[in-house]
Amino acid sequence: MDKKQTFSLWYVLAAVVVLLLIQDLSGNRHTQTLSYSEFKQALAAGQVSDVVITDGMATGKLKADGLDRILPREKVEALERVGGEHAFATVLLDDPGLVAQLDAAKVRYGTVRQSRWLGALLSWVAPALVFFGIWWLLMKRMGGGMGHGGLMEIGKSKAKVYLQTDTGVSFKDVAGIDEAREELMEVVEFLKNPDRYRRLGGKIPKGVLIVGAPGTGKTLLAKAVAGEAGVPFLSLSGSEFVEMFVGVGAARVRDLFEQAAAKAPCIVFIDELDALGKARGVGMTGSHEEHEQTLNQLLVEMDGFDTNRGVIIMAATNRPEILDQALLRPGRFDRHVAIDRPDLNGRRQILEVHVKQVTLAADVDLAALAARTPGFAGADLANLVNEATLRAAKHDKPAVGMTDFDEALDRIVAGLEKKNRVMNPTERKFVAFHEAGHAVVAEMRKNTDRVSKVSIIPRGIAALGYTQQSPTEDRYLMRRSELLDRIDVLLGGRVAEMLVFGDMSTGAENDLQRATDLARHMVTHYGMSDALGLATFDRRPTSAFLAGPAPAQPRDYSERTAEAIDAEVRRILDEARERVAQTLTAQRTALDRVAQVLLEREVVDRATLDELMAESAQAPAERIAASVASPAVQDLHQ
Ligand code: ADP
Ligand code: ZN
Repeated sequence: MDKKQTFSLWYVLAAVVVLLLIQDLSGNRHTQTLSYSEFKQALAAGQVSDVVITDGMATGKLKADGLDRILPREKVEALERVGGEHAFATVLLDDPGLVAQLDAAKVRYGTVRQSRWLGALLSWVAPALVFFGIWWLLMKRMGGGMGHGGLMEIGKSKAKVYLQTDTGVSFKDVAGIDEAREELMEVVEFLKNPDRYRRLGGKIPKGVLIVGAPGTGKTLLAKAVAGEAGVPFLSLSGSEFVEMFVGVGAARVRDLFEQAAAKAPCIVFIDELDALGKARGVGMTGSHEEHEQTLNQLLVEMDGFDTNRGVIIMAATNRPEILDQALLRPGRFDRHVAIDRPDLNGRRQILEVHVKQVTLAADVDLAALAARTPGFAGADLANLVNEATLRAAKHDKPAVGMTDFDEALDRIVAGLEKKNRVMNPTERKFVAFHEAGHAVVAEMRKNTDRVSKVSIIPRGIAALGYTQQSPTEDRYLMRRSELLDRIDVLLGGRVAEMLVFGDMSTGAENDLQRATDLARHMVTHYGMSDALGLATFDRRPTSAFLAGPAPAQPRDYSERTAEAIDAEVRRILDEARERVAQTLTAQRTALDRVAQVLLEREVVDRATLDELMAESAQAPAERIAASVASPAVQDLHQ
């Protein structure tokens, strides 16, 4: 808070009082107001002298003697009380005969040129000042987050760009997210040796978008890149660009890029990019134009930016899906680095980083803690270590022991459960078998992409686990058999749930939607259904293999056809479910093995999946099924 803040309501009030005083002093106090009829009577009786007419008003003097004949008693008394000249004022009516009457009464009369500036001051400058004062105060109040700049400093993002010449963070401090780290190595290399890249005409990324749930270490990673490269780190949050005045955000963007150019080589980090870069028209209230201008300015600055100057823009978001597509085009944020929540091993490594400064008792088992914290992000783990340390300190212990961790964990889990961020054991089993179902079906189908990774680490809000398939080549066409296999894989999750638990979960919603869409397209677009033949229906533009939603359009076929389409879609899905159920029953051993390893390690990679599939192909089905799967299944049914 600086001095200017105290320019407050009091100043406005004082100004008003002064104005009132001025008005009062300019003569009104000794003046008696007469009605127009009284004035005319006094004039007719010859009691009036020295009349001054200014717009709409007449002022003048009254002769004292004989006044009581024409004026009411109280007015005369009032005039006498104030003494002096017996000044009066009256509001004039539209009276063309007045001048003649004044002449007849031989009154001295005339008008004065109004004092321009005083009049103007009183009539509009003063109110304008008052309004400005009030408006200014309101702005001040609303723009509380704008720092101490206020009106005068709009557009200068001085206070909000945080500049760290040396972040002091290195890759050593970032644990458990090795893939993301490796992807950013290249950026470090470039910042360290820009000339080497330039000489060879290499193409340097301009913008790197880091995508990941809150607390997974996006900011930390960006800082580590700056730290490793030894360049300054300029950061600010996307939400700070968005202001209520049109043009302010854009000015801030310009300002930011100017500062960056001056500090090059450096890293500019924009946190919460979604606040600034959300697609135009998505969930927007009010300041539409401001938002658009800010976003456009960012695009313009990024385009006009020459990477050779050694500035790299990094941004973080946990909602990449709402970003404006223009931001993701080549030359902008075209490099994407995804950070998942850490797996078991990653969590242990992160704990290790954070306990480095802490004195640990001998009984602390970090691996056990990692096993008990599924779904925790890096920030949650840092918080865990901190809470445990605080607890130990409170009890004056020489070192932080396992009981401290236990209690801290209980507290944090309770907090996270409220936010729906941890799964209970039953849910985990459901998710494990669901994902194992997808994976095993994918393994058993010839015409589908290979599974690269299966995971039950929650990813974002909706997905509790995922099975990742990577295409081995670019596709331009898909055969019917491939589409059917794809549907099988999508249904694998739900069918596994039914097979193992005899129950189903809501987790399959997205799978079922996609399977239904595929089946419907086979019928209505690709002419792949015998019942409906080669005719196509619903002729809306389709994106390649169902990438995005199509706009709704009126139907151009009969009710009967609609029913036939629905029946065909249903038939395709029912048949697929039958096939998948057969596959999974036959592969029950593999299903159980994969699910069990998922529950233990949370992630199954390609190599492990190969091992598990080979193992279960050899092992006698009954033995493994009895020893492995039953516990998980049984305590679910307790
Ligand atoms: P985000 O930007 O993704 O919300 P941050 O980078 O701000 O998350 O992480 C907050 C804190 O959590 C970090 O300062 C660090 O202490 C801890 N943290 C998060 N991820 C990791 C990680 N992978 N390794 C070590 N510490 C981490
Ligand atoms: Zn699924």
